[in-house]
Amino acid sequence: MSADTHLPKDAAPGGTELIRFDRVTKRFGAHTVLDALDFTVSAGKHVTLIGPSGSGKTTILRLLMTLLKPDEGTIKVGDAYLTHEEKGGRLIPAGEKHIREVRKNIGMVFQQFNLFPNMKVLRNITEAPVHVLGLGKDEAEERARGLLDLVGLTAHLDKYPTQLSGGQQQRVAIARALAMRPQVLLLDEVTSALDPELVAGVLDVLRDIARTTDITMLCVTHEMSFARDISDDVLMFDAGRVIESGPPEKIFTDPEHERTREFLGAVL
Ligand code: ADP
Repeated sequence: MSADTHLPKDAAPGGTELIRFDRVTKRFGAHTVLDALDFTVSAGKHVTLIGPSGSGKTTILRLLMTLLKPDEGTIKVGDAYLTHEEKGGRLIPAGEKHIREVRKNIGMVFQQFNLFPNMKVLRNITEAPVHVLGLGKDEAEERARGLLDLVGLTAHLDKYPTQLSGGQQQRVAIARALAMRPQVLLLDEVTSALDPELVAGVLDVLRDIARTTDITMLCVTHEMSFARDISDDVLMFDAGRVIESGPPEKIFTDPEHERTREFLGAVL
């Protein structure tokens, strides 16, 4: 793999707060999915969200991607409020321009790879840098080639997504997300749709990215050994709240909460 990952090394000074959820509530009809949720993530940290299905983990990633809006509370990424912006000393609802800016700083990889089926691999990766960031074609292709090297797919840049395995498609999706040089990478159960033999290749690429870059990662996964390897912090969710958090060696070996013990007992 290339030593030059084409990723920012100094996106935000390590240790500074990058993501803040302040009493965030999200309801779908009468169902309160997130209940006055508070948490923060520092720049460069890798945070894994674990917990039973339906506990609100994916909703958090979708809120950060601005695919959903909270009903109450404040979400902040860096200096930018996703929910509000400051104008004349008052907080007013965040405008489209502001939200677009935040979205550029956050990359997301989904369970289903969502590649553009009509575009070859290289173009899947260059499309957003050219059209959203305004990069020249040559520069975008150089960046894409570096990322394809990082995910081990240099030999496949001229293929269409359907000519690749699911694991290879997911690695293209990771390269595509990184091509925007986001400060934050959101990973939503990225191996759940893969055949078991393809999971390790994708997780190895993510381990490599976690190890060699300063990108901030928020990861929803059921792959507990992966979570243990890459996480600085693990947040355990139940019914829309963080019931326990800490470093993986604490959460996975000596959890305090009965619900955490039950959950880990079921998945480990
Ligand atoms: P998790 O990722 O922890 O499995 P989710 O965040 O996907 O949980 O979902 C939390 C709850 O919110 C679930 O009960 C789910 O059915 C519900 N939910 C999620 N998205 C929607 C939606 N768009 N409309 C209605 N209910 C939703």
